[in-house]
Amino acid sequence: MFVGIDLGGTAIKGALIDGKGAMLSFAQIETPGSAKKIDDGILGLMAILASSAKISETDIQGVGIGSAGSIDKSRGRIITSPNIPALKNHPLARNLEKAAGARVFLENDATVALMGASWKGKSGFRNWIMLTLGTGIGGGAVIDGRVYTGQSGNAMEVGHMSIDHAGRECPCGNRGCLERYASASALARDAEALAKTNPGSSLNGRMKNGSLTALAVYEEALKKDRAALAAIREAARYLGYGIAALVNLFNPEAVVLGGGLSNAHSMLIPVIEDTVRLRALPGLKENVRIIPVKDPSRVPSIGAAKMAMDALSGIPETR
Ligand SMILES: [Zn+2]
Repeated sequence: MFVGIDLGGTAIKGALIDGKGAMLSFAQIETPGSAKKIDDGILGLMAILASSAKISETDIQGVGIGSAGSIDKSRGRIITSPNIPALKNHPLARNLEKAAGARVFLENDATVALMGASWKGKSGFRNWIMLTLGTGIGGGAVIDGRVYTGQSGNAMEVGHMSIDHAGRECPCGNRGCLERYASASALARDAEALAKTNPGSSLNGRMKNGSLTALAVYEEALKKDRAALAAIREAARYLGYGIAALVNLFNPEAVVLGGGLSNAHSMLIPVIEDTVRLRALPGLKENVRIIPVKDPSRVPSIGAAKMAMDALSGIPETR
């Protein structure tokens, strides 16, 4: 049995799979505010996964964790995570290994999403990119059929690709990072500003303590609220700028959208496609498909479990 953990800025999700890859249980908790509570939260999640699948926790052979931020894979440590500041220099995998008595493997969150999508999605693509649209924006690439992770597992930090050198400040230290304009949290913040200048917008009725969630914005956009639709189109346009650059760099067959915000794909994709058509180079932009991943909330944790399974059976990171 293998556990996969998807550690994001808003939620920690876990999946338990057996040796054949069948999912036995799935659960999620809110991401706590301190590193110690995150360790404990993951241990608690493992207990829930085991008990709901009616197995003993000692049957868990390996745990894969996909974490937001930059990681030191070999030391099992988070280097820095702009969306989960408490995890800076946190030895997450080592702590959990000690506490859980199972091997723990750390990977970038978008890379495990990509592993899950390529394992369960059976896309047939050999060159493709994945973007995970959540609190931040993660990215992964499959090049000639192999997952590309870079020298230390931190490749494809798509969310911190600067699309405006003088743009919005980012906690990473750069300016104009894509995720400051097109992540779920950026969408929510931009919609809050739009709601204030549009008193008639139904977004105003969805505010809680002056804040919106991306889900609330999406739900109001489905009901054709103009401010909500404008906020989603704006986020999609920015995604299009980023994706056009990625298309020029990677010449992919497909760009796959995952993460919670990808549930709004029917509104995002037409705008992204228009922007890519305007901005990417001829010869690259014509045959690229922009598609949503199936089951975006579970795919990263399933991919993280698969990563642990492969690591323990000595299979390299190929699809
Ligand atoms: Zn940044």
